[in-house]
Amino acid sequence: MPRIARCCCGSLRAEATGEPALVAACHCMECQRRTGSPFGVATYFPKEQVRTEGPNKVYERGSDSGRKVELHFCPDCGSTVFWQAEYVRDLIGIALGAFADLSVPWPTLSGWEVTMHPWVTFDHELDHLRKQEELEGTVRLRS
Ligand SMILES: [Zn+2]
Ligand SMILES: [Zn+2]
Repeated sequence: MPRIARCCCGSLRAEATGEPALVAACHCMECQRRTGSPFGVATYFPKEQVRTEGPNKVYERGSDSGRKVELHFCPDCGSTVFWQAEYVRDLIGIALGAFADLSVPWPTLSGWEVTMHPWVTFDHELDHLRKQEELEGTVRLRS
């Protein structure tokens, strides 16, 4: 059964089959602003496992590490559902919360801890990175 991520109003959707290659929490300021939360959590799926549908607008931004991210959000309700990040070209990022599904795997990575709110803690084993630069070469993708 594919999992379906969607925006608040339901018109923008991303359908993902199989399991994500990576689930990562990100504490960078951009993710804090995008989500309105202390951190964002992204699931990354290989492109061929994802199908998207619905009207969307693209907000392109640089990342704190200087690479480009294209965020696709619903023009009606404003939720960001999926994105493409330059540092993981073959993968599509889908907002974990947009699945509203407790079966989505836990994050295995906590990135940009340099700007993590000090009261945030995780109760399970995961990799910790101070910044995203350290990500390249360190990411352990599930096969
Ligand atoms: Zn919407
Ligand atoms: Zn981030």
